Amino acid sequence: MKYYDQHVHSHFSFDSEERLENYLNISNNFLVTTEHLDFKNPIIDFQTNYPDYPAYIAEIKLLNQRYDNRILKGIEVGYTEADSQAIKELISKQDYDVMLLSVHHNGKYDFMEDAVLKQSLEETMIEYFQLMLKAVNDLSQANILAHFEYGLRRYDVTVNDLKKIESLLKAVFKEAIKNNLAFELNGKSMYKYNNVDLYEYGIELYKSLGGKYFTVGSDAHVVKDYEFHFRDIFDILEQHGIEYLTVFQNKEIILVKRP
Ligand SMILES: [Zn+2]
Ligand SMILES: [Zn+2]
Repeated sequence: MKYYDQHVHSHFSFDSEERLENYLNISNNFLVTTEHLDFKNPIIDFQTNYPDYPAYIAEIKLLNQRYDNRILKGIEVGYTEADSQAIKELISKQDYDVMLLSVHHNGKYDFMEDAVLKQSLEETMIEYFQLMLKAVNDLSQANILAHFEYGLRRYDVTVNDLKKIESLLKAVFKEAIKNNLAFELNGKSMYKYNNVDLYEYGIELYKSLGGKYFTVGSDAHVVKDYEFHFRDIFDILEQHGIEYLTVFQNKEIILVKRP
């Protein structure tokens, strides 16, 4: 099997209008979309958003007939502790090949909003990674720890800054590794938000704690961003001695050779 992008959004996410066919038409490989599930999302006036599951299933079923069963189902859970029960109840009734785990907001604001800058980087790092620790503890059935630096994107962050909270980050990674979560290399984080160095540090920290599973995801919301900078990311993985990537089908771990 050939590696495929494992972080992709379509019109089933609140912030994308892309059609599944547009992704299918540019590749012969599997396609998995990982649609947003965010409870009380500050970006959209604290509305709850998640894919219309019956419609998602129906469209995939239809397209799978036309596109050689190439389409898989995924979700990106934006975890919030306050809504933990509701999130678990919702996803227990749905079936996905792969589940991404993210922390996007703290109940008051999304970490990409201006409001985050009222706090110092250090305060936000502690808050954000504590939320992530709760997330990996509580949603152990997730498969991929998505964009680990999302909460810090509005700051200029160096590896030395991360080292200041390394013990907290280690606790997050240890719990993720215990639950067999893969560490995601997020193309948008690395090449749009210029956080390649943070990911290189993240790879080594994950490895040092026994982490073996890695995924690459573009976080595309439009087809032109599909597999964003994948060649660069594969080269970085090679430099760090990562020979195999992980894909998830029906939640099962499948190791595939790094392209
Ligand atoms: Zn996300
Ligand atoms: Zn995403």
